[in-house]
Amino acid sequence: MSVRVVARIRPLLKNEHDKDTIVTAEPAADANTQDRPTLVRIPNPKKDAESFSFQFSSVYEQEATQQELFDAEIAPTVKHLFNGFDLSIFAHGCTGTGKTHTMRGGKSMAERGVIPRLLSAIYRRSKKTEKDTSGETKVEVTLEYFEIYCDRVYDLFESPDKRTPAGLPIRDNHGKTVVVGLREKPCATLKEFEQIYDQANVNRSTSATKKLNAHSSRSHAILCVKVTQSTESTIRVSRASCIDLAGSEDNRRTDNNKERMVESNAINSSLFALANCVDAINSKKPRIPYRESKMTRILSLGQNSGLTVMILNLAPTRAYHLDTISSLNFASRTKKIEICEIENDPILRTMAKPLATSSSIGGSNIARQPLRPL
Ligand code: ADP
Ligand code: MG
Repeated sequence: MSVRVVARIRPLLKNEHDKDTIVTAEPAADANTQDRPTLVRIPNPKKDAESFSFQFSSVYEQEATQQELFDAEIAPTVKHLFNGFDLSIFAHGCTGTGKTHTMRGGKSMAERGVIPRLLSAIYRRSKKTEKDTSGETKVEVTLEYFEIYCDRVYDLFESPDKRTPAGLPIRDNHGKTVVVGLREKPCATLKEFEQIYDQANVNRSTSATKKLNAHSSRSHAILCVKVTQSTESTIRVSRASCIDLAGSEDNRRTDNNKERMVESNAINSSLFALANCVDAINSKKPRIPYRESKMTRILSLGQNSGLTVMILNLAPTRAYHLDTISSLNFASRTKKIEICEIENDPILRTMAKPLATSSSIGGSNIARQPLRPL
């Protein structure tokens, strides 16, 4: 089991200019021309003559479509889900980089994000499974949808007025973490899914506007799709968890308000816990530290030999420079620094080093400790 980390650079928005683009995708030096790029390049914020490149499993450029991303990264995992494996799909990145666009997407067919496409693929495969077994296997799909805000769990199938401020308790149930009192909704068709999901997203945004700041970008939203395949003698349950993570930007750089600090600490420690789990899984450590935060605990990341895809969303422009470096450091295990010396000098490829060592701008801790203004 490993975590596949892919990067996606969003297109420029109407108010952004081409000349401010600093994040680009590149193929690896040894790649074939038709291969998808695997490197993200960005200048060193401290030294213009240098740039950093970060390696991913794949990099999706500005023009990449929702369908391309889904077909290459998510569609192949659906068969594993039906074979009994769990699946986790994360969208990670700063606020405004395209996480919700990637996961939920727009209204039109072409703009639909990973989540509706995944549900569509699950229903299609359910029908096929039932047909192939002449109705002997029944497939049932149920949903849970909740958010984790400041380490508290709120049910998004419940209207915000009915929420208890302390959130729902979590308990250990034979080694598995469960959220007590979370609603589970059966959902038999894509149409039904769209209604349920849209309503729950209204719940998420209503609670966001009640608070002055954009709460929705400060919480992790987790949709769990439970697929139960049963025959007369067997029952097989697997789960796909789709997570729109809280914005990873460093609030402390811009705002010292107390509520922001509490939010920021909760976000940092849960993203830190997630990074530790991803590292432990990818380096095949025997123990995955999923107990370090509620989010990783509930998702039991790394516990049930599931498949994990992490999509790192990036904005292409200079306005996000430091936060983009910080996200890249979080998500990528290897980094190269290239020093582009003054004209005509050959490009010097300096190093390829793991995150654990520090670089001139702070190395592995950069995502975990706030950057100081430069
Ligand atoms: P986040 O959830 O990370 O805060 P959003 O998904 O809300 O970011 O995206 C920010 C803005 O960028 C939105 O207006 C969204 O429509 C737009 N956007 C993001 N990614 C894309 C994309 N791949 N194609 C077109 N527009 C995008
Ligand atoms: Mg969002």
